[in-house]
Amino acid sequence: MKPLAPGSTIGILGGGQLGRMLSNAASELGFDVCIFTDEHDSPAARVSARTFVAPFDDRGALEEFARHVHVITTEFENVPAATAKALMDAGAHVRPHHHALAVAQDRFDEKSFFASTGIATPAFAAIANQADLDAAITEIGAPSILKTRRFGYDGRGQIRVMSPADAEAAFDKLGAPGILEAFCPFEREVSIICARSQDGQVAFYDLCENEHKNGILSRTVVPSRANAATNVAARAAAQRVLEAFGYIGVLTIEFFVMPDGALIANEMAPRVHNSGHWTIEGALTSQFEQHIRAVAGWPLGPTTRVGDIEMSNLIGADAEEWSELAADPSARLHLYGKRDSRDGRKMGHVTRLRLRED
Ligand code: AMP
Repeated sequence: MKPLAPGSTIGILGGGQLGRMLSNAASELGFDVCIFTDEHDSPAARVSARTFVAPFDDRGALEEFARHVHVITTEFENVPAATAKALMDAGAHVRPHHHALAVAQDRFDEKSFFASTGIATPAFAAIANQADLDAAITEIGAPSILKTRRFGYDGRGQIRVMSPADAEAAFDKLGAPGILEAFCPFEREVSIICARSQDGQVAFYDLCENEHKNGILSRTVVPSRANAATNVAARAAAQRVLEAFGYIGVLTIEFFVMPDGALIANEMAPRVHNSGHWTIEGALTSQFEQHIRAVAGWPLGPTTRVGDIEMSNLIGADAEEWSELAADPSARLHLYGKRDSRDGRKMGHVTRLRLRED
């Protein structure tokens, strides 16, 4: 694809906060954004030039959307890979490729893909029925975690298993198809945000250290406490994933860091990521601008980090503190414009930055 000239329109599948921040970044580069979402009054729609509201399997609406845009990308991972494929088959430029979406949407395919590229994962097994479960429990043992293969996010769709009896109860609750994973007694959780351009240029942000509460990201600190070898290994793994997909755009991989510094891949997101929100203030090019650059066929921007960062999510009622946060000169406040607050809903985030002296 020829690099898109400013004034072109970028189509985004999904209307959440990631779409909103992508749209803001696109506007800074002179692009218009058109959102396709199944939700009315979405956060992204309110900052974008145009929005189509229709189900993700509405072929007619998708074709109409494709006619209005020059390239299409996604902002949340459960956009059906079939939707992306239908758009590609109809001749649209879709970035990233629907293969990457499909792999990331299925925890078994995702772990199998990591293993095929030489990236360590927890021991895992696909569970379609009771016999699979029995075999997996014998092989993997407990503690372990039973997860649904699809549509799990923010800690949903998974149950910790401490014994074979637990495994049966968990399987009854979650249903098939599932995946049983060995529990990893990790020292910390980290993520790497990386990007690849259509010309094969690759860029990495510094490793992010992530704390979760109730399965939801709560805080990201950069730099992470992981040692230099772990940082090098994360970049090498990310590069392999980007190359394996011929990926275009920003991609995130989440890892467990074991006590000896070894990395175990947990999951990947073929998109910008909550643990990369710090890049808005904390890096020379934000992850959102980077993604827009990549999908528009532009060169990637520099990922240099400008200081030490802490990013905290505002979840549910946390966002009610907006006036105190707005008055705090150390806090850079971001609110996503969601109409209602619910427990566990990401309403905004706050970034605190200590600039580098040099
Ligand atoms: P996930 O939805 O797979 O990202 O899991 C959400 C959180 O559950 C992770 O960030 C970890 O804190 C924890 N978790 C998931 N899988 C494992 C595992 N195999 N071992 C230990 N902790 C896990």
